[in-house]
Amino acid sequence: MAKRDYYEVLGVARNAPAEDIKKAYRKLAIQYHPDKNPGNREAEEKFKEASEAYEVLSDEQRRAKYDRFGHEAAGFSGGGGGDFNDIFSRFSDIFEGSGFEGFFGGARGGQRRARGQRGADLRIKLKLTLEEIANGVEKTLKIRRQVICKSCAGTGADEGSSFQTCPTCNGQGEVRQQVGGGFFSQIVVSACPSCNGEGKIITQRCMACSGEGRVPEEQSITINIPAGVSDGMQLSMRGQGNAGKRGGDPGDLLVQFEEVPHDFLVRDGDNVIFDLYVNFADAALGASVEVPTLGGKARFKVEPGTQSGEIKRLKGKGIPNINGYGAGDQLVHINVWTPKNLSGEEKKVLEKLRTSNNFIPSPGKQDRGFFSKMKEFFGG
Ligand SMILES: [Zn+2]
Ligand SMILES: [Zn+2]
Repeated sequence: MAKRDYYEVLGVARNAPAEDIKKAYRKLAIQYHPDKNPGNREAEEKFKEASEAYEVLSDEQRRAKYDRFGHEAAGFSGGGGGDFNDIFSRFSDIFEGSGFEGFFGGARGGQRRARGQRGADLRIKLKLTLEEIANGVEKTLKIRRQVICKSCAGTGADEGSSFQTCPTCNGQGEVRQQVGGGFFSQIVVSACPSCNGEGKIITQRCMACSGEGRVPEEQSITINIPAGVSDGMQLSMRGQGNAGKRGGDPGDLLVQFEEVPHDFLVRDGDNVIFDLYVNFADAALGASVEVPTLGGKARFKVEPGTQSGEIKRLKGKGIPNINGYGAGDQLVHINVWTPKNLSGEEKKVLEKLRTSNNFIPSPGKQDRGFFSKMKEFFGG
């Protein structure tokens, strides 16, 4: 299913100021809030959709990227996950005065000490055929990543009580150091090296994970790739990277697409180009030939009197636009094949035609050369 345009989702104009985007999202978020619509899948989807749109459009850089390159370039979070807690902690200011703030708790109030250490992002490359790109595809792959240790629930401690307050920082998670002397001395605050800023240390480590709170595991993940992505685009799946140490936030999984060259078709944006070779007789008399397409095959009519270099369009047989703006076309570039080897009989026939009146080249305006055709088709 094609993703809806973010501006459409929020119901704002493409040039809407940040304030309007925020207002529009707030309205939708409150309307479709999961707390107001318990068990309503549709409301939940709408809520997520609006949140994703807001996440991108509220960030100036990502909005600019989205405007130029569409959904994938802007990098959306979730990948099927889309945790409400996550949404709320990121957009908490939006819900002020709505009665919902604090509903999911936790995010507000005071500086809290670091909980563990954030997991690293994972980067993978994913090869896609042009057919997969044209249709969209669901890929299941195995990745080895750090996951939360089940034995200790990610705490890294053998039992819940196996913690003690860090003696280096007295549980503050940070240490202060006086640097320099005299006039230039200053206090530098940094994360406590003994506890990595966590404020506590483990007295008895979990055996299963040696106190890391995470263990490596091979897992299958399913990635839904929308139609129309292109080579080099990156999909970021928030929270799908390595688990953090001792309850730290997980990293992201960054999936970069690699387009596998097609045997017959060359991609040009949303269009695909096919080089068709027809023999001289077919070009002169007309013919019906079969051409490969992304969907399989299509019948293609070679008109009588077709010139080498002509480009015809198979409408809609290209790649769907990533932003849902229709689909590209397949451009058929016709090449008239000149035989390289001729039998005696073939030579005789052609010799007869050599001086025939209709065989004298007489290009008209409609038979413009290659370069002006390229200009016409590629909008140069
Ligand atoms: Zn453990
Ligand atoms: Zn410490």
